[in-house]
Amino acid sequence: MKKILTITVAVGIFLMCSCTRNTEDVREIFAMDTYMTVKCYGENSKKANDEAEEMIKLLDSILNVESDGSDIYALNENGGGTVGEEVSPMIEKALVIASQTDGAFDISIRPLVKLWGFPEGVLHIPTDEELEEVLPLIDSSKIKLNGSEITLGEGQSVDLGGIAKGYAADTVADIYRDNGVVSGIISLGGNVLTIGSKPDGSAWKVGISVPDKDGAGTDYFAVLSLRGQCVITSGGYERYLTGDDGQIYHHILDPKTGYPSKSGLKSVSIVSTDCTLADALSTAVFVMGYDRAVEFWREYDGVAFDMVLVEDAGDIFITEGIKDVFSSEESFTVIEK
Ligand code: AMP
Ligand code: MG
Repeated sequence: MKKILTITVAVGIFLMCSCTRNTEDVREIFAMDTYMTVKCYGENSKKANDEAEEMIKLLDSILNVESDGSDIYALNENGGGTVGEEVSPMIEKALVIASQTDGAFDISIRPLVKLWGFPEGVLHIPTDEELEEVLPLIDSSKIKLNGSEITLGEGQSVDLGGIAKGYAADTVADIYRDNGVVSGIISLGGNVLTIGSKPDGSAWKVGISVPDKDGAGTDYFAVLSLRGQCVITSGGYERYLTGDDGQIYHHILDPKTGYPSKSGLKSVSIVSTDCTLADALSTAVFVMGYDRAVEFWREYDGVAFDMVLVEDAGDIFITEGIKDVFSSEESFTVIEK
């Protein structure tokens, strides 16, 4: 009798523990102009997501370049100032990546984004004279960062849209880690970070969108099986303005030409454990094009990253680090180091 009681109590405790361990908490958040989902498991899942939600909203309020209450708005208006300690590491990293990518990624892109009419959503095709005036401003080596004190170069303004979601993902990962969360998945406007494995121990499956405006977010051409990595995608199809003649002008601008980048790639996905890096590189690699991107990938000696490149004609290339976790019904070529 005593034995049965002991077993019953043991089973009860085991069930309680495993339920607590697998407690799921999911939130839908609208921030940074996009829908986000944060989902995690474990006994601290609710507390972790409370903190994650608060942090995402805080970052959104600091970074919103269009809102006159934000730090970044004030920074752009005043040509400098102090930003919260929550965002200065991102700016520091953005400046490093600008120099590593030879300016393909550059947060001082804002005057060009404005010139094309993206903030208002009204297309303006710049004249040569306008571009001549604006292009010298796109040079983040003129931005000085001293702790959280920033000084912009004359006439400069910044836009963190190419890196902010990746940084937000890393920040959520830190919050999860501090709360002992070992399983979760977050999607920030289609950019996905996996934390550990699924609660059953298997890998998370993350789809990569078909790179055209009708298929985006609903159709996937490939799936990655990931544990603890993120996938961040940049594509012209994600945001664009249309001319009177039906021509499309997308939102990823080439700081060298001043025009929407025409590098021959229509989609770039970066896989890494570092989401800030992955986000900045997804934008940079889109601008670089295949040859420069592969050379950059081969030579890069920072945190490891892999790429999925889709060329305009539809050909798919992946780098070798993800060959065992990438699956697609389409044919693809593996790029080796
Ligand atoms: P993503 O979707 O991460 O590639 O980021 C694209 C966004 O980053 C655009 O909507 C602009 O706000 C900004 N952006 C555009 N071109 C660049 C560039 N060459 N470098 C940095 N940010 C850019
Ligand atoms: Mg990006």
